[in-house]
Amino acid sequence: MTPTFKIKITGIVQGVGFRPHVYRCARSFGIKGYVFNNDEGVIVHAQSEHETIVKKFIQTITDKSPALSKIDSVSFEKIDAKKYSDFSIISSEGSGQRGHVIPPDAFVCDECCEELFDPNNRRYLYPFINCMHCGPRYTIVKDIPYDRPNTTMHEFQMCHECQSEYENPLDRRFHAQPIACPSCGPELTIYDRDFENITTDYPVLKMVELLKEGNILAVKGVGGYHLMVDPYNTDALRKLRERKKRDEKPFCLLFESVEKCESFCELTDFERALLNSPERPIVLVPKLDSDDLSELVAPNNTNYGVMLAYTPLHYLILKNNFSCLVCTSANVTDRPIIYEDDLETLLQVADYAVTHNRKIHTFTDDSIVRLVKAWDKNEYQTIRRSRGYVPKRLVCSNNNIELLSVGAELKSTVCMVKNGSIMLSQYIGDLKNLETYNSFKEVIQHIKKLYKFEPKLVACDLHPDFISANYARELDIPLIEVQHHHAHMCACMLENNIDQNTNVIGIIFDGMGYGTDGKIWGGEFLLGNYKEFTRAAHFDYFPLPGGDASRKKINIVAFACLLKAYGNIDEVMKNWKTSLTEEEMVLYQKMIDTNINSPLTSSVGRIFDVVSAIIGLCRFSSYEGQAAIILEQAMKSSHCDLNESYPYLISFQNDQYLISLNETYLSILNDANIGLSPEIISWRFHNTIVKIINDVCILIRERKGANSVVLSGGCFQNKFLLESTIQVLNKNGFKVYFQRDYPANDGCISLGQAAHVLYSK
Ligand code: ZN
Ligand code: ZN
Ligand code: FE
Repeated sequence: MTPTFKIKITGIVQGVGFRPHVYRCARSFGIKGYVFNNDEGVIVHAQSEHETIVKKFIQTITDKSPALSKIDSVSFEKIDAKKYSDFSIISSEGSGQRGHVIPPDAFVCDECCEELFDPNNRRYLYPFINCMHCGPRYTIVKDIPYDRPNTTMHEFQMCHECQSEYENPLDRRFHAQPIACPSCGPELTIYDRDFENITTDYPVLKMVELLKEGNILAVKGVGGYHLMVDPYNTDALRKLRERKKRDEKPFCLLFESVEKCESFCELTDFERALLNSPERPIVLVPKLDSDDLSELVAPNNTNYGVMLAYTPLHYLILKNNFSCLVCTSANVTDRPIIYEDDLETLLQVADYAVTHNRKIHTFTDDSIVRLVKAWDKNEYQTIRRSRGYVPKRLVCSNNNIELLSVGAELKSTVCMVKNGSIMLSQYIGDLKNLETYNSFKEVIQHIKKLYKFEPKLVACDLHPDFISANYARELDIPLIEVQHHHAHMCACMLENNIDQNTNVIGIIFDGMGYGTDGKIWGGEFLLGNYKEFTRAAHFDYFPLPGGDASRKKINIVAFACLLKAYGNIDEVMKNWKTSLTEEEMVLYQKMIDTNINSPLTSSVGRIFDVVSAIIGLCRFSSYEGQAAIILEQAMKSSHCDLNESYPYLISFQNDQYLISLNETYLSILNDANIGLSPEIISWRFHNTIVKIINDVCILIRERKGANSVVLSGGCFQNKFLLESTIQVLNKNGFKVYFQRDYPANDGCISLGQAAHVLYSK
């Protein structure tokens, strides 16, 4: 009998050209047999006279796997089989469980790009060119299995030529579900503000012309609409900021290539690689001093968010026309990205809408990442996880749990646990908007349908009023409530494969989360594991007069902290130069004293706001995190020096360390009043926070023995804070973990909730 092997490959191996890849390899090695997809992955029966050839064949399949695939495991065994005469691809078998292997959306590949600009190619200048290695995936799937009739491409009847490419195992477009060409596929349409169709023979030229004239274009992309504008045109940018009601939040820039990008930003090799990675995220990078773009692209910011073209249309617009373009998500303030062809809403902001007839079934925003230095190495951090990364998943050993976790509220995501895999959804947004809440429910429905998912358990935040938590509470399945900062800690532990028996110190610094004592936590040192925790230390509480509104009115929070530090209002008035009037201060003092709408918090996010407002760098925050970003960027140094810090007090009561910053604030105000630059004050303040972290961790280690530290919470998106904390703790013998693939902000909460449930046994 001829030796035959059955090979099983699992992971993202379907819908990515894996079978044709195996087919080609088999042919080149002279192997006989067949390949097919089933519920578990790709199965190969490989027959050869020589075992060594089969081994080489397996090596080649895995080493040279298709760009979009991600192999989780490869196993093989010897089986008995009849003699095969050739190698073939046979149709899929199974019940349709294979849905969990839908690949993410992918950037247009090099080969397609070449064809796009080849006048002899039948897809020359065709904005919807794609192949097995590229194009939309997750955003066009409506149901499983991932086949053309179950995508939004089902509306397009393939032409004869496309059909023959689709059916030819040796063609790059074999089973490429979104396959299309100018004679059978989607096309662009342009509308003006009167909803008149002004499409021309070559719409891309018209788009270029409109952009050059200073118009704002809403352009349909992969996961939703973008707003595009010429970044040299200050008037157009001002118009965009006014219509979008977006004062200062930076806009992203789109480039054709890394080389073009380098005329405007300073890039390291690592950042070049991030930009070029298949996910094509937005990368936050330092601006060059000498760039000539309009200041309104990213006002008061030392960074640009930049990304490389990822759709054929991006290349068509940019090529030889623009060095770069502003390309920002089209959404009404605080609402999710617009992905339906809602011309009325789009044209409130844009002058023209460029749409097409390939429907987007699920939205995805552009993802955001950045470089961080840790342990003297280049690492990265994910700030928003969406297009390109979703629906990639983590594997877990627990096969029995079917769980939905619904995350937090401000940076909402949901998470599914099923069949031993953990899948975090795309970034959804702030659920306090009805539209976002509707999207949240749509995402859950979509995941349920796509993965035949019926959760048996649901996990949510402890917060009594979180919209996501109340959604979960109304479901008729067993509910598990997870404390917000514990979820942060579990998310970081999961990503770093920390085992169930390790006790860690979880340093969780963020904006706000509901604490077990009913107060707003956010400056926490937790001690524990996936299952349980104690609060080992925290920043001392301070009041937030005005409650939720204080997220923007940070001047008022600064007043509250100075009042606490001085102990009397006259001293505050005498020493602090601020835009608040004396009457206002008296009013806020009353609110605090009588405890009217002045909840207590330990939030480090707010503490950064306070310092920014005390020294007058930022008194009103127009977008989340703005004051902290301005404060961080005020400091030119990236080198941490613990000797250059402000005084603070750590006391011990009720089995907890309590950190008081009263002295810190007074010293900061004093420095500001003697004219010390914000650069130095900010640097000293950052050093102070790192020093506090170090002191507290050492105290906890001495008492409790824990030596592993996990970092999470939005404040660790502060590069200086993250890098310096890792460096200092590392030097003192701690094992430090942070989040790379999942965001440190509330985007990770649903993941952490899932981790808590999974590993609480
Ligand atoms: Zn391609
Ligand atoms: Zn065609
Ligand atoms: Fe949080």
